Amino acid sequence: MIETIGILGGGQLGRMLTLEAKRMGYRVVTLEPAVDSPCGQVADDQIVAAYDDPRALHELGERCDVVTYEFENIPLDAVLTLEREGRLVRPNGEVLRITQDRLLEKTFVRSCGIATADFAAVHSRAGLDAALAAVGLPAVLKTVRGGYDGKGQWLAHTPSDAEAAVDAARGRPLIFERFVPFERELSIICARNGRGEAIAFPVTENVHDAGVLATTIVPARVPTAVAERVRTAAQRIGEGLGIVGAYCVEFFHAGDDVFVNEIAPRVHNSGHYSLDATQISQYEAHVRAICDLPLVEPHLFAPAVMVNILGEGTGDRLAGVNDLLRDPDVKLHMYGKAHAAARRKMGHFTVVARDVDDALARARTAKALLHWTAA
Ligand code: AMP
Repeated sequence: MIETIGILGGGQLGRMLTLEAKRMGYRVVTLEPAVDSPCGQVADDQIVAAYDDPRALHELGERCDVVTYEFENIPLDAVLTLEREGRLVRPNGEVLRITQDRLLEKTFVRSCGIATADFAAVHSRAGLDAALAAVGLPAVLKTVRGGYDGKGQWLAHTPSDAEAAVDAARGRPLIFERFVPFERELSIICARNGRGEAIAFPVTENVHDAGVLATTIVPARVPTAVAERVRTAAQRIGEGLGIVGAYCVEFFHAGDDVFVNEIAPRVHNSGHYSLDATQISQYEAHVRAICDLPLVEPHLFAPAVMVNILGEGTGDRLAGVNDLLRDPDVKLHMYGKAHAAARRKMGHFTVVARDVDDALARARTAKALLHWTAA
């Protein structure tokens, strides 16, 4: 029986996961190098250590019945070490191995018969000509591993842009991806448990600002057939990976087509809305999936818009909250981070309203009220 959940990573996703897990009666221990982490603040305990510290991993495994992770850039070896010690890790190391590597991930998606942007591997300037010929321009060059929130990414309109990107990557392997002139970015949260029961949340529409998610709109304003295509593709991917847990698949939407951009084998920023707008959140779905509980189909109470609250580097006090909270349909979630560095994810709010336009208008009004000041 599962009583204690271990989480690798101490960020806001772990925090919201922990709050839901605690509500459901579980104990939670997190392993994270930074003290006073957003997750550690609400967990029963935090082991403060590097993710790959063998003694810390052993202790986490000893104290927990299942271990999960809240971001996918933890060292793969940490998960493999736990698995070698006979610990249950969900999603497992094989899922993490594929999704940590953009080349393996896109190759896997294609093997499921699902479209991605055309891509090629580039290891040095010498390999660039072949990639340019095979994929063409404009293109996006991304580090194969370790990038997130638009970090480790370069847009190339010309061959010399591409050369500059290879130089900037300083020897790190790259994926050279055709730029997709998308109309919208879409994502979907799904979950699967160990018995293969699978559920999918509504398709969401995501607006990014300089590579960082700014706003999620749910339901996405796309034809039913497009939403259905997204759902089918994401569920096929989950089945193919044999994933146990919640996961997110991000897509580009252009015309009638959808292209998979990325798989996140974890709860995701674009699923925050589910805390307030669906009867089961992505966090509860993840807890249910990894703890062998039944999964139920999520349903949306009403359209919603989620807005990330990013730091501005202008101070650590969020002004405007009193005004924000005058809207009865705004739910505020803050992550307990002390310093509001520029572009750091500090919190979010969700507006649940009668239709998407109303939710969007009120979200814009609400966002304009907030700014960071010195204490
Ligand atoms: P990623 O880290 O792969 O999620 O990329 C971050 C953001 O860069 C995406 O959300 C898109 O806005 C943009 N982007 C990444 N890859 C492409 C592409 N192949 N075509 C167009 N835009 C892209």
